[in-house]
Amino acid sequence: MRKKVIAGNWKMNKLPNETITFFEELAPLVKNTKNEVIICAPYTDLFYAILSAQNTNIKIGAQNMHWEENGAYTGEISPQMLKSIGVEYVIIGHSERRQYFAETDETVNKKVKAAHNVGLKPIVCVGETLSQRESGKAKEIVTNQIKSGLKDLTKNEIMSTIVAYEPIWAIGTGKTATKEDANETIKWIREELEKIYGKENADKVIIQYGGSVKSENAKELFEMSDIDGGLVGGASLKPDEFAKIVNAI
Ligand code: PEP
Repeated sequence: MRKKVIAGNWKMNKLPNETITFFEELAPLVKNTKNEVIICAPYTDLFYAILSAQNTNIKIGAQNMHWEENGAYTGEISPQMLKSIGVEYVIIGHSERRQYFAETDETVNKKVKAAHNVGLKPIVCVGETLSQRESGKAKEIVTNQIKSGLKDLTKNEIMSTIVAYEPIWAIGTGKTATKEDANETIKWIREELEKIYGKENADKVIIQYGGSVKSENAKELFEMSDIDGGLVGGASLKPDEFAKIVNAI
């Protein structure tokens, strides 16, 4: 039985003082959940988030990283840097990074491997645009993202990778995939993983849904057979709303 993992992606929001207040409010609201709770904060908030999350059940993630250990990469952050301050998760290949910062399946794959090398758990985002969906290409696109982005991982690495299926047309738009659609897509993502890594390993991979998850739709989505929780953007910025999503199931 896979557990549900609910991760908040703050994107480029919140200052350190807002981070501290957020955790003071969120921690008591989610302390009894059996679900895994993660907050992915901007780099400048990470250390405050880690200190604030001490003695709570909330884990901390970053939103990106470089794949190299160190070197002449001005402005970049390495996997070791994240690990050294207590970060446990890192979002890789978010559609906004693919769209605005030239992230490709190749760089996603390098980052996923680099994350595992230091013991960070990657949350790898895949998903199709509206035009790809309308032209019937969604399956092909997402399959390629899975095959290229998650290639050559060990069995242990694939089992500690989280996949977030995020149809791009549903991110930040208020439009959510129907629970049936999201569940179907996640099922065939798992089938693709099965072809590469075998059923036993594929069955253990957490696959989340992301795209306008909010307290009103979280329960029906998370109750579906193959949806193992959510990656939540806008609705993760308010502690009470995010807590309702975490506690929806
Ligand atoms: C996201 O940023 O991954 C996301 C799903 O955003 P939103 O929940 O705001 O659609």
